[in-house]
Amino acid sequence: MSLGFRNRLALFLVATLAVVQLLTGATVYSFTRQALIRQGQAELVQSADQFDRQLETLSQRLAEGGKILSLDYALRQAVAGKEHATVLSALRNFGRRIGAARMLLVNLQGGIEIDTERPRDGGGEAGAFAYPALLDAAAADGKAAAVGVLDGRVHRMVVVPVLAPTPIAWICILVPVDDAFTAELRSLSSLAKSIAIVAETAPGAWGVVAATETVLEPLRDLPPPGRMVRREPEVTLLAGDEYLVMATPVRAAEGSPPVVAVLQYPLAEALRPYKPMAVWLGVLLAAGLAAALVGTVLIARGVTRPIAELATVARRIEGGDYAAPPALPDRDEIGQLSAALGSMARAISEREERIRHQATHDAATGLPNRARLEELAGALAGAGRPAALLLVGIERLREIVNTLGHEVGDRLMAEAGARIAATVGGGAPVARVADTALAVLLPGAGEAAAMEAAGRIDAAFDAPYVEGDLSVDLAVAVGVALCPGQGCGPATLLQQADVALYAAGRADPPVALYDAATDPHRPERLSLMGELKEAIEQDVLALHYQPKLDLQAGRVMGAEALVRWIHPKRGFIPPDSFIPLAEQTGTIRRLSRWALGTAARQLSAWGGQRLGLRLAVNLSVRDLADPALPDHVAELLAQHGLPPERLILEITESAIMGEPDAAIAVLKRLADRGVDLSIDDFGVGQSSFAYLRRLPVKELKIDKSFVLKLAQEKGDQAIVRSIVEVGHSLGYKVTAEGVEDEGALALLRSMGCDCAQGYFIARPLAAPAFGDFLAGTSWPPVRLPAEETV
Ligand code: C2E
Ligand code: CA
Ligand code: CA
Repeated sequence: MSLGFRNRLALFLVATLAVVQLLTGATVYSFTRQALIRQGQAELVQSADQFDRQLETLSQRLAEGGKILSLDYALRQAVAGKEHATVLSALRNFGRRIGAARMLLVNLQGGIEIDTERPRDGGGEAGAFAYPALLDAAAADGKAAAVGVLDGRVHRMVVVPVLAPTPIAWICILVPVDDAFTAELRSLSSLAKSIAIVAETAPGAWGVVAATETVLEPLRDLPPPGRMVRREPEVTLLAGDEYLVMATPVRAAEGSPPVVAVLQYPLAEALRPYKPMAVWLGVLLAAGLAAALVGTVLIARGVTRPIAELATVARRIEGGDYAAPPALPDRDEIGQLSAALGSMARAISEREERIRHQATHDAATGLPNRARLEELAGALAGAGRPAALLLVGIERLREIVNTLGHEVGDRLMAEAGARIAATVGGGAPVARVADTALAVLLPGAGEAAAMEAAGRIDAAFDAPYVEGDLSVDLAVAVGVALCPGQGCGPATLLQQADVALYAAGRADPPVALYDAATDPHRPERLSLMGELKEAIEQDVLALHYQPKLDLQAGRVMGAEALVRWIHPKRGFIPPDSFIPLAEQTGTIRRLSRWALGTAARQLSAWGGQRLGLRLAVNLSVRDLADPALPDHVAELLAQHGLPPERLILEITESAIMGEPDAAIAVLKRLADRGVDLSIDDFGVGQSSFAYLRRLPVKELKIDKSFVLKLAQEKGDQAIVRSIVEVGHSLGYKVTAEGVEDEGALALLRSMGCDCAQGYFIARPLAAPAFGDFLAGTSWPPVRLPAEETV
């Protein structure tokens, strides 16, 4: 989980402050404590050092008192006179006066003569004084003092001689070292401390002989009496509190068991004056923390709120919203960041706009491109609105570009776009969808409006393109696709318009509406072509034969071969629905070769029956692009031993119009081999007789549209008559197809037409049926002369 910038900042500042404060507190405490310990140690050492001196001072005072006593005349008399009772009472009085609990009178031999504590009733020998060295010292100095253990108790001892004028005895003043004494000692020191006096009260064991009431465990950590040395002050924990503890041996009289003073210095008590300071430090810490917390939250909010706002802006930019970020004062980094974000958003938006424009427009003409058009078409289709797509192909543009250069070509396209836009009006989008094609989308247009607009576009290109001295004639073709139609996807629409454009290129005026029936790109059509190939290979197709009647001779002179395809699943498929497809996909060449082969076999069979019939086979314009065709035909004829004039090849008028010289060369080579050429569907195309004369043609086949109602239509009669007349005058034979009634047949005969073909004579017939027809008809077929061999 992330904490967020603000919280992390606050946490960091507060933690840092707390650590610094705690460290400060700890340092202050530790320094104070160390100083106190050092001070305490020094004081303890000093106290210990003074201890003996204080003892000395106290003893001196005792000694002074003792001295006064020893000089007392009466006492000296009494001692000298061995008046025990007098001496005892004098000692007792004196002892009481100076606070000595016990007084001894020791004789020169060191024996205790009188002991105020143990007065002997009848005299008798008392014990020897335990510290004879003390007596010697008193003899030398006039007095001696020491601490020593006597009868298991520690005493201060002062010895003074009784002089007369030489020493005649010793007075020993004994003051017990007791609690009062330790209290007195403590009061002499500046330091609040506890004192205990410890002595070897039993052999090898320490015992406390006196102590201030504040002393704790004075015997702790003491080495055994035999090895006792001074112990320097040490920090020791006593009853949960820290104490400085020092133990120092007291100078004792020679022969005395060791006596030790234990000094304790309570550190906690010494630290007590500093307690308020600690409290203050704590308060300061808390206040500092609170201030830091508030400060960081405020600062962090000042930083994070604009950052959070900028983050929102950044997300907006990511989402494509380039509105300017909130204005922040430019002073600080965040203000600069905001300004940078703003200019970044502007730059991105501009660049995106540029890229969008490039992506949706044609660079050369500035017109929308195919992607843009598809986008618009898609939007319309998505909204369920009808629309028409008009694809305008600029004819000969490649030639123009090759001659005048790409720049002229691009400018020409731009002007073409402008002309189209001006023609259709209404702001309809005109796009360049291919090198040589522009497209315009007409929202809401149905078939009539679309075709009308297409016609106007065609007319708009009557005027040439002019640039300086240059004038270029323009020609266009317009393919129209409709939505709703066969499919409304933008790509489909464009493809359909393309198919229509192809058809428009061959139409007059050059405008065509998409017709699914002739669309070679429809998937089912493609599969149909595959199946057609298979049908050709497996010889499933058949040729039917429609008789041709020689009108003047009244004989069946031949037939036209027409392909029949019975599809295993679809049944009969009329040639009109697969021949155009086969032409567009190139399959027609195989079909033609198959038809030629089959026709040759049929001719050969007829020859065997001594029939001299001629057979017309239909060729497509694409066959003329095959330079090997003439040789193939010649080979076929030779193979079956057929004279070439038995074969007629039909080419539609529209197919050979405007075809390249190569196609015409193929026609010529076919004619050279003796095969007759016939112009099929004559009269519907644009051919002129002048053009036809360049071709090696033998026959004109008048289109059935002029023949079907010939008996009824005077106009048709006029047309047919003139075709027959002009054809004859140019040396062509003339055939009429589509003869459906006797009237037409009679008219044709009267007009001098050479041949007739049509349902009135016979429908196209399978080979056996054709045989039956020949056998039953009143028009006898042309027979071969007996000598001619096949
Ligand atoms: P086409 O060459 O003009 O063939 C004549 C068409 O007119 C045939 O249609 C025929 O059945 C029909 N017809 C004949 N007499 C009459 C009549 O009295 N009244 C009417 N209404 N129609 C008549 P079909 O067989 O459907 O062939 C259509 C087209 O298919 C042909 O037109 C031809 O262009 C093409 N075609 C047929 N077979 C072949 C072929 O083997 N090769 C090529 N390249 N094209 C072929
Ligand atoms: Ca024909
Ligand atoms: Ca025809």
